[in-house]
Amino acid sequence: MRRRRISSRRVKLHRSYTVEELSDVTGATEPTVRNWLRRGLPALTSRRPTLILGRDVRAFLDVEANRRKRPTPIGKFFCFRCKECHPPALGIADYLPLGPSHGRLVAICECCEGTLSRIVSVRDLPTWRAFCEIGGGFDGSD
Ligand SMILES: [Zn+2]
Repeated sequence: MRRRRISSRRVKLHRSYTVEELSDVTGATEPTVRNWLRRGLPALTSRRPTLILGRDVRAFLDVEANRRKRPTPIGKFFCFRCKECHPPALGIADYLPLGPSHGRLVAICECCEGTLSRIVSVRDLPTWRAFCEIGGGFDGSD
């Protein structure tokens, strides 16, 4: 199942929203908005309906977006087609040097067969070699 695209761009800083209005403007479902409230999104709950300030929504969703960002681990690539991290197909990647300290690793996604690519540091290549066979311009040992 695909994650729904939630955006705080249409949330106005100086407006307040009901749960229903916030659902419309962000693209999140109403249960998701209620979940945000349980998880700490501030709201004015003394009167009904509950009102949520636009600036609180923006701040909350910014924090949430950063919390979800996790670095892709060594040995895996972020596949923009799959929107997930995958190891290279057959455990093979090619290293294309871009300078003395870094280069581009290119591989095929084992899931969708799309092209995977990421910039890596020369320093990390020995660690990469524990996960995959690296061909191309890399002139390391053996
Ligand atoms: Zn893929």
